[in-house]
Amino acid sequence: MRTLDLCGVCAAKLATGYAIRKVAGGVDNKITCAECGRRRYGGTYEVTKKGGAGRGRG
Ligand SMILES: [Zn+2]
Repeated sequence: MRTLDLCGVCAAKLATGYAIRKVAGGVDNKITCAECGRRRYGGTYEVTKKGGAGRGRG
């Protein structure tokens, strides 16, 4: 699991291949996107590979 700052566009893109979850904050703020490198509105996300072992339904 990694924690990345992502803009909305890249978060949506990664969501197709990864399980992503927004972490504390909630309100959109300006971040430097770890994916596209641009300074945009976004948030901090936990990015987990889909189908990984371990955490499923609790
Ligand atoms: Zn981005």
